[in-house]
Amino acid sequence: MNEIETIVCQLLQCKRGDLYLNKDRVAPTGQEWNRLERILEKRVQGAPLQYLLGETEFFGIRLCLKPGVLIPRPETETLVSETLQSIQASGKTSARILDIGTGSGNIAIACAVSEVLKEAEIYAVDISPIALKQAKLNARLNGVAGRIKFLKSDLFSCFKKTKQQFDFIVSNPPYIADDEFETLPLDVQAEPRLALLAQAGGFYFYRSIEQGSRTHLVSGGYLFLEIGHDQAPELRKIFSDSSVWQESKIVKDLCGRDRVVIIRKK
Ligand code: GLN
Repeated sequence: MNEIETIVCQLLQCKRGDLYLNKDRVAPTGQEWNRLERILEKRVQGAPLQYLLGETEFFGIRLCLKPGVLIPRPETETLVSETLQSIQASGKTSARILDIGTGSGNIAIACAVSEVLKEAEIYAVDISPIALKQAKLNARLNGVAGRIKFLKSDLFSCFKKTKQQFDFIVSNPPYIADDEFETLPLDVQAEPRLALLAQAGGFYFYRSIEQGSRTHLVSGGYLFLEIGHDQAPELRKIFSDSSVWQESKIVKDLCGRDRVVIIRKK
């Protein structure tokens, strides 16, 4: 579906085919025309389609969205599928899994609905209360609210005292260098900076996750990280302490660009 079809189908609550084959049934009312006009005006001004519609799809699940919460990207589906495949291959399907920076809850929820992780204990943290509220709502909408523990936390901060450990840690942290903000497309600039930008040239969160995982990832556990397409060499350096880390693997997304790093702790 193209954008305009997506907008009209949501507005009129109909299927794409109805737009062309069932024109009488889907004739918009005056109110619907007004709403359509308002949506198109905002879209032309650069508002992201997903915020205007209030929803998106990710890994086959429906997620509600609003400004202040990062819009899940198709590339992140590669992170989820790699995570699920590796966990299944490890045989540790009743593991403890942590999703850092859960945002809309997309990764944690995709894991929770998966057959592979029916027995898993899933934790999802975020520093943003707006994101956490949305993630909890999305978990309810997808019938997995009872399966995920959502916690407000700055990376590992809420686990510091207990030194809680996880078998798998997955994250799509902010990774755009903070001085690149102005160069981003307008609709990306409409998304929360907190979820997009990272200091240290985009590497701040990878370094912090490397540090925190020394304590909070079990020995033999795995880290799954989404990365920018040109960040793999620096990531290798960040995880180059071979007394702690082994088996780093880079996986490409469907566009053939480096997108996911998988690292095992010794
Ligand atoms: N986990 C969310 C996503 O992948 C949010 C990530 C973030 O805030 N950087 O879309």
